[in-house]
Amino acid sequence: MELAQRATILTPSLTLSIDSKAKAMKAEGLDVCGFGAGEPDFDTPEHIKAAAMAALERGFTKYTPSSGIPELRQAIADKFLADNNLTYKPSQIIVSNGAKHSCFNAILAACQPGDEVIIPAPYWLSYPEMVRLAGAEPVFVQTKEENGWKMTSEEFQDAMTPRTKMVIINSPGNPTGSVYTKAELEALVEVAEEEEILILSDEIYEKLTYDGAEHVSVASLSPEAHDLTITINGFSKAYAMTGWRLGYLAAPEPIAKAIDAIQSHSTSNPCSFAQQGGLAALKAGQGPVEDMRSEFDLRRQYMLSRVTGIQRTSVVTPKGAFYVLMNISQLGLSSTNFADRLLSKHHVAVVPGIAFGDDRTIRLSYATSMDVIKKGLDRLDEFCRTL
Ligand code: PMP
Repeated sequence: MELAQRATILTPSLTLSIDSKAKAMKAEGLDVCGFGAGEPDFDTPEHIKAAAMAALERGFTKYTPSSGIPELRQAIADKFLADNNLTYKPSQIIVSNGAKHSCFNAILAACQPGDEVIIPAPYWLSYPEMVRLAGAEPVFVQTKEENGWKMTSEEFQDAMTPRTKMVIINSPGNPTGSVYTKAELEALVEVAEEEEILILSDEIYEKLTYDGAEHVSVASLSPEAHDLTITINGFSKAYAMTGWRLGYLAAPEPIAKAIDAIQSHSTSNPCSFAQQGGLAALKAGQGPVEDMRSEFDLRRQYMLSRVTGIQRTSVVTPKGAFYVLMNISQLGLSSTNFADRLLSKHHVAVVPGIAFGDDRTIRLSYATSMDVIKKGLDRLDEFCRTL
């Protein structure tokens, strides 16, 4: 049977294959330290679960409006104003089945064959595939370690062609942990404004910043930036709700309308009772978010103190998210080879940077317990010494 071309061009997720190998080893009884996780290891706070359970109990189990229930869209608009200095009408907000779905909807609505989308590398691995699924072409900008893995406005300018339709900015970033400063974002926005390039600003890790780094929403920088930006956010990372599949975006009215139409014909609406959980997450105090952030920060500092001691490797201090990107290029192995050997010989799972468009690196997630981090880093250190 012949598959559609759009299906055959997809690269299967490398992160998932490492993950399944690690799981299989664990099932055999091996003591595997997992640094592969892309999700908080904390449980969803109780009051959020209680709100979803109460919704189920009172029969809130039917279709909802395709873009989400009005109370939730209003609460998201209130959150944007309070946290991000962004003014959006509820009609500009679309709730979807996770921020990944929001990104995909936005790219589908805005990009088509003939368009190019600029993606700074290392990148979150789903962006290029989403762009290809929309029939458009990803254009990668290799960022430099000495620039903190951040794209400069010159690099952005150089990558631009008459076909450029969109640029993707992900701050705080996965896999780099980089957080763009206000000035750096302003410089990028200036370039985008000149050519009226759309900006997809994925701000899913906004609550996880460290060392006083400030998260700035791209759309808040100027009225022009507001008109060009699709802001992505969600519940997965801030509220440890990855399994709930709940995310959202805010966009200029015509784009929001188009996304509403796409969603109404594909997934209908995000899960009804998950939306009630999301509403509770936004309405209640934000204490649990800070508790989780400060625990991540302790682990980040510990992990950094250990990996900076490993010879012939380097890291840029990550200021956000929950990842450390380690440059292993001087150790003489490709990232896949490194990850495979580390897993089979030392039982430590990491994600090879090739998955993120950079074969010189590996990604370590500290979304796991301090015990696992300590043991895993002992083993990683030992492995690197043998190379
Ligand atoms: N954007 C980035 C940069 C991510 O790392 C992730 C999760 N790995 C997502 C979006 C998707 O999150 P969600 O669970 O809300 O779909």
